Amino acid sequence: MEKYIRKNIRELIPYSSARDEYKGENAIFLDANENPYNRPYNRYPDPLQTKLKEKIRLQNGINPENIFLGNGSDEAIDLLIRIFCNPGINNIIVTDPTYGMYEVCARINDVEVRKVSLNNDFSLDPGKIFEAVNEESRLIFLCSPNNPTSNLLSESAIKKIIEGFNGIVVIDEAYIDFSGTNGWLPMLPDYSNLVILRTFSKAWGLAGIRLGMAIADKEIIKALNKIKYPYNVNILTQAIAIKYLDKVERKEKLIKAIIKERNILQKKLESFKIVQKVYPSDANFLLIRINQPLKVFNFLKDHKLIVRDRSRVTLCDNCLRITVGTKKENKELLNLLKEYEKKFPQ
Ligand SMILES: *Cc1c(COP(=O)(O)O)cnc(C)c1O
Repeated sequence: MEKYIRKNIRELIPYSSARDEYKGENAIFLDANENPYNRPYNRYPDPLQTKLKEKIRLQNGINPENIFLGNGSDEAIDLLIRIFCNPGINNIIVTDPTYGMYEVCARINDVEVRKVSLNNDFSLDPGKIFEAVNEESRLIFLCSPNNPTSNLLSESAIKKIIEGFNGIVVIDEAYIDFSGTNGWLPMLPDYSNLVILRTFSKAWGLAGIRLGMAIADKEIIKALNKIKYPYNVNILTQAIAIKYLDKVERKEKLIKAIIKERNILQKKLESFKIVQKVYPSDANFLLIRINQPLKVFNFLKDHKLIVRDRSRVTLCDNCLRITVGTKKENKELLNLLKEYEKKFPQ
């Protein structure tokens, strides 16, 4: 794996923080120029989030040396690009459509983005991916379930890509908890070039605390920890995540409720004349193809209900993306669509 890491990163001597150099707890700390008052917020956070990772290990069996924690999974996306891609030389491969942050992070770093269209049914064609790969390709980003298309990508297609690519394959599993599958974690020991992204923003309902995970071979995790900001996950985030990790049953209950609501919403949406198609979803949102999407979008917005206009996205013409809300919120959406159809007979 090391051969794919940029030379300047391999040779980098990372910043060593006070909390890196002394890791004990019960001591008098006069080493970090902190204010001695205002406890506990006066102290810098644990740079490697040891307690939190231990909690994750107990729950998911993932070894701390295989976990990177960041300020959202967006941080991991940015760091992976900076570890593996030389600006102006290397490129990344993404599917089209997919989550926009891979492209944005790459462009900020002056890294070329090669887009490979999904098939019309939003499935993944490994052959097309390999056509886009050249000797400067370092990362392939696959999002499964994919945003905004809401479908899982096929296991066999992903497997071909992991096994056939001389570089790193990142599978973004932000929505995996809504898919009824375990995702790629069990396969991690088999592939040293695989990175799995998970987030606390969706199924855990903790988007506001900004916490994301990259799970990978320990050499990749070492590189991520080497280049991250020393105190990238603050103490409030670490404490809240530790607290919520004890509430797995609550999390499972929420996921069940959201999936149930998703299935109800799917059926109800299909009954509207203006709705041409509701795509099957493995996530906590629905992609729908609808007549005059912008007019519908604006009508909903005027009634203070906001959905995402995806109609200018590849393969998603006339599409809106709708997050599954509470029962009450979904009912409000359906009522507004009824009102719209009444006002603008089809
Ligand atoms: C929402 C989402 C994320 C979450 O990003 P965070 O920075 O962890 O909030 C990651 N990937 C995809 C595809 C998403 O849709």
